[in-house]
Amino acid sequence: MEKVFIVHYGEIGLKGKNRAFFEKRLVQNMRRSLKDTGYLEVRRLYGRIAVTLRPDADVAKIRERLGKVMGIVHFEPAYATEQNMDAIKNAALKVVEGKTFETLKVETKRANKNFPLISPEISAQVGAHLLDNTGTRADMHNPDLRCWIEIVEDSAFIYAEKIRGVGGLPIGVSGKVLVMLSGGIDSPVAAWRMMKRGTKAIFIHFHSYPYTDKASLEKTMELAQILAAWNYRTQIYLVPFADIQKEIVTRTPSPFRVLLYRRMMVRIAQRIADEIKADALVTGESLGQVASQTLGNIRAIEDVAEMPILRPLIGDDKADIIDFAQKIGTFETSILPHQDCCSLFVPDHPATNASIDELIEAEENLEIDALVEQALAGVERKVVDV
Ligand code: ATP
Ligand code: MG
Repeated sequence: MEKVFIVHYGEIGLKGKNRAFFEKRLVQNMRRSLKDTGYLEVRRLYGRIAVTLRPDADVAKIRERLGKVMGIVHFEPAYATEQNMDAIKNAALKVVEGKTFETLKVETKRANKNFPLISPEISAQVGAHLLDNTGTRADMHNPDLRCWIEIVEDSAFIYAEKIRGVGGLPIGVSGKVLVMLSGGIDSPVAAWRMMKRGTKAIFIHFHSYPYTDKASLEKTMELAQILAAWNYRTQIYLVPFADIQKEIVTRTPSPFRVLLYRRMMVRIAQRIADEIKADALVTGESLGQVASQTLGNIRAIEDVAEMPILRPLIGDDKADIIDFAQKIGTFETSILPHQDCCSLFVPDHPATNASIDELIEAEENLEIDALVEQALAGVERKVVDV
């Protein structure tokens, strides 16, 4: 009898090549995520994945890590045994030991059809063994405890606890996105939501250091580090933005500043996205959340985009975004004080509905291409990892 973890993932809509691709990436990501936990092997087994453990494996750590692998729907600490009824019965008794319950149900899934008993017979025999040895009752409809048995290939897996995973798709199966990470509450959540759909996140942050303090840079690095728990090796592009802001401030009407900042950010971000082969930009915008996030302004910003700008939080309420940030552990960092570069030189009454023509006219006073090149020349690339 050997301790293992059994991992179940979503199969709906996954067929043929896509499914093999998904499974392969999931296995790779699991190995990456478990690398310092003492696991022995991560192995694909007909529709599920088994993680075998070395004797000194850190079971608590494995549990925590599997809970952060995108694409896992649920996973179970289990015993693996040979396919014989005595071994299965012993393991079943061991997994229910120490749990408090008065009623019990055993459920069996038999993927190996060569096993001599059919599923209901296995459940009945193991059930009888457990009831005899624990003095409990069977309840087929609403048991206090369920014990599951899976007969797969040449092993049997037995478990009595199912742990919910994050779901979603394995990171990497949906390509890459460049996330505009500000240091605030919203953009880390937006990044997480995209990661959950299987995109690898790369970050870009615009800063006005040394005109502002280092806080926004430090926060951004810390947020990237937190998100790396799901995203693994994570790149962050830090873009100096103060010179561009100064140009905008001296050469354009003040109500347009924020929008002009944003249009410059998008122009620069998509150059980096092209370079790293990311197919979309991502922001933490949510409709109407602040005066600058009106549909009109979103359109005015999107006007300069040559690739999709994805806004996974567009329909979310602030309170829900905050809950989410707390759940993924970014909130405490996001609320640390910092000066966003966009708050630098910003007028009291930014335009909430500038027309694209007005913005283009204002931009005639700027050397757009030169400013983009200059910012790109000053980009610094960092990497964080878990
Ligand atoms: P957040 O909580 O993510 O800071 P916000 O509510 O403060 O968002 P805005 O300041 O309007 O909203 O920013 C909207 C989006 O623009 C951010 O979610 C982020 O994706 C992007 N953004 C803003 N400032 C920066 C920056 N300095 N660097 C990179 N991206 C930024
Ligand atoms: Mg912000």
